[in-house]
Amino acid sequence: MPGLRVLVVDDNPLSFHMVEELATQMPNVSGLSWARTYDEGLAALRAGGQDACLMDHVLDRSTGLDLLRQARAEGIRTPTVMLTCARSGELDMEAIRAGAADFLVKGEFSADVLDRVLRYAVERQRSADRLHESEERYALALLGANDGIWDWKITSRDLYFSSRSRELLGLTEAEIPNDVEGWQKRVHPDDLPRLFSDLKAHVKGHTPLFESELRLRHRDGSWCWLLARGAAVRDRDGRATRMAGSVTDITHGRARDHLTGLPNRTLFHDRLGRAFARKAREPAFEFAVIFLDLDRFNVVNEGLGHHAGDALLVQVARRIERCLRETDTLARLGGDEFALLLEGVRTPEEAGQVSRRILEALEAPFEVVGRPVYAGASLGIALSAEGGSGPQELLRDADTALSRAKSGGRGRHQVFTPPMHAQALGALQLENELRLAVERQELRCFYQPIFSVKDRGLVGFEALVRWMHPEQGLIAPDRFIPLAEQSGLVQQVDDWMLQAVTAQLEGWRRTLPGARALTVNVNASKRQLDSAGFVERVLAAVDLRGLPRGAIALEITEGMVFESPERITAVLAALREAGVPVVMDDFGTGYSSLSYLHRLPLAGLKVDRSFVSRMDGPGPAAEAVKAIVALAHSLGLKVTAEGVENEAQMDLLDALHCEHAQGYLFSRPVDAQGAEELLQSWAGRRLGTG
Ligand code: C2E
Ligand code: CA
Ligand code: CA
Repeated sequence: MPGLRVLVVDDNPLSFHMVEELATQMPNVSGLSWARTYDEGLAALRAGGQDACLMDHVLDRSTGLDLLRQARAEGIRTPTVMLTCARSGELDMEAIRAGAADFLVKGEFSADVLDRVLRYAVERQRSADRLHESEERYALALLGANDGIWDWKITSRDLYFSSRSRELLGLTEAEIPNDVEGWQKRVHPDDLPRLFSDLKAHVKGHTPLFESELRLRHRDGSWCWLLARGAAVRDRDGRATRMAGSVTDITHGRARDHLTGLPNRTLFHDRLGRAFARKAREPAFEFAVIFLDLDRFNVVNEGLGHHAGDALLVQVARRIERCLRETDTLARLGGDEFALLLEGVRTPEEAGQVSRRILEALEAPFEVVGRPVYAGASLGIALSAEGGSGPQELLRDADTALSRAKSGGRGRHQVFTPPMHAQALGALQLENELRLAVERQELRCFYQPIFSVKDRGLVGFEALVRWMHPEQGLIAPDRFIPLAEQSGLVQQVDDWMLQAVTAQLEGWRRTLPGARALTVNVNASKRQLDSAGFVERVLAAVDLRGLPRGAIALEITEGMVFESPERITAVLAALREAGVPVVMDDFGTGYSSLSYLHRLPLAGLKVDRSFVSRMDGPGPAAEAVKAIVALAHSLGLKVTAEGVENEAQMDLLDALHCEHAQGYLFSRPVDAQGAEELLQSWAGRRLGTG
């Protein structure tokens, strides 16, 4: 037996160190890990990776016995030896009943004894597991007897199905006699071609076994997935004369999501189809479809691992289920997408009520791998009573409403209305046009100057993209950047900006002496940061124009970091290494987690306009800016205030020692020509001290 890894759950450091001491003399033990509390112990057991567990009976807020029971209830089978303080026959028996392999009294055992007890516990568990497995196999074999049986004399078209085969479909022999046509009629039309080709392949001898998955109509109107298997009997010439085999009901596996046990997409569509069929029969019958997406699933999945992501999905499913009635269907469509079918729901108010209940249920943190995790969700609702002529349309409407809920700030629900469809189409059109905009040279780079607060000298620009649309004129980025982000086009837009800015800077530096000290900020997107070779592309663009590395800076937002902190930190570190400064944009609006800020290699941060614009005198907004500036300075970061529109704000910023300011007070974003004029007017004057 290779060395055992043993988890010690004990709230007393002394006892742990005692075990640690003993372990040095235990040949079977290769490693110890220590959980100090009930929660830590449970988390460690859930995470797995130990061969055995040594558990103290007395734990912080509970007992080792309770912890063991909880673990066993969750299906965790780690062999466990209990440690008790004094010999108590009752406690010992309880421990064994709870599933402990053995028990020892603290201070009464040697390294030798502990070593042996642990080894036996593990060995016993392993043989129990093996027994369990063979029992399971046996049970499966028995279950196989549940299959239907069929026999087909190919030459005479004689077909026999056992009564069990009919039961799978809820039918009697009177309803479906033993003939080919009767059965064929029940097969889903989409599955017939595959069934025929599977049959043909086997009859012709191309496959050693016949196997086909197909849907048959159940008596209640639903589709039942069956796995048909069989083999041919052949005559001397190898011609198949007869085929026989079994049919197995695999509906559950096909129609259920394995992780959550909820209906899957197939089953959801089936139920939705039936709801529409019912509506056709009973015009008064209405229903609602809700799409639900978790807002922060990727954060969990990437941050804590897929195992954690899966655990979260299961818990989310259970909480949503508790908000529903028996006639409602909750399905998992895939990833973190769920769908609900609410029968009998007619009005936006009724659907909204259910949605609010769900949002509320998801508010409290989930416990995932021993940590609190906030999931949050967005919901899109479509009502059969308000359009949605068929399943496809209704699903599309719910999806449109969901996108709206997300872009409206997440954590909310949105009911679909027909104008949304037109807008969604408009957005789609704009997105298609944007695809061509780069090629057609329709993008423009605008520049907004950034000034030093202390001496009002020009220190640089922020580059802001515009789209010169052939029909609609100049389009602001707020209208197309979100679309570009969804489709991934944003990467092209941002790369284009990088080229435009570096080319422009090269020109200015040649002709305008003042341009040499400038830094131009370029906005980066998450997609760009995630794309392979991003750092190399930035450096190539800068080097191509012979610019110093500090001539451009990149602006990122908090949201970009939050989703995958490790990866983004590595990208930022590479940029710093190469001498390209990065600043945090829109600071204060995002997750504002101060805890990670000091770990990021940043050069500065930009206080969001929403704070600056509310800062018309001493008050909460000014206090917030003061705190941000103080924090930034303590981390060695320079601060730029965005959206400065009046002198009062400038005075406050000056008093707070904020370094830079940008806003309509100085200038709106202007085109390259405008920026050049600005630079020229500055040529005679002193440039700002960065
Ligand atoms: P942002 O990065 O926060 O840019 C600042 C926005 O505030 C700009 O809007 C600017 O015109 C506006 N602004 C500046 N000073 C004032 C002021 O005093 N008052 C008011 N009310 N507004 C002011 P713009 O150019 O419409 O850009 C909007 C957003 O679009 C940007 O916000 C940025 O998130 C995004 N964006 C712009 N250009 C790019 C780009 O090249 N790439 C990417 N990925 N995003 C971009
Ligand atoms: Ca920006
Ligand atoms: Ca900003």
